[in-house]
Amino acid sequence: MKCVHCGKGIQKHTKRVQFELTPTKYHAGDRFTRYVYIGGGAWPLTIADCRKHTNQHVVSVARKKIFSHETDKTTDIGIAFFNEWDGETYLPRFGFFCSNNCAGEFAKAEVKRQRRTRAAA
Ligand SMILES: [Zn+2]
Repeated sequence: MKCVHCGKGIQKHTKRVQFELTPTKYHAGDRFTRYVYIGGGAWPLTIADCRKHTNQHVVSVARKKIFSHETDKTTDIGIAFFNEWDGETYLPRFGFFCSNNCAGEFAKAEVKRQRRTRAAA
């Protein structure tokens, strides 16, 4: 879906799928987040690994990095979470537009167009 004013893509409604070792009381899933527990297993490393945990599209991933004070180095240990998308749902925040700015610009242009049309009639 594209913004009817500027043609930019409208934000997809994605859900964050957060990998955790074990459940805690802070993991309350909602419509924006769900949790997957890997227990003692390894952190997912690739998008293919993420796909095993969803039947939706994997649109982005975030890596999990751990800093060691001993080695003074940051190590990438896998994927912390990914965002899944059903392939059809967009965030309806701004209606047919990518932003309120575009909605305003579109409205102004439309009023000007209507005034020109009326003046010509
Ligand atoms: Zn726009």
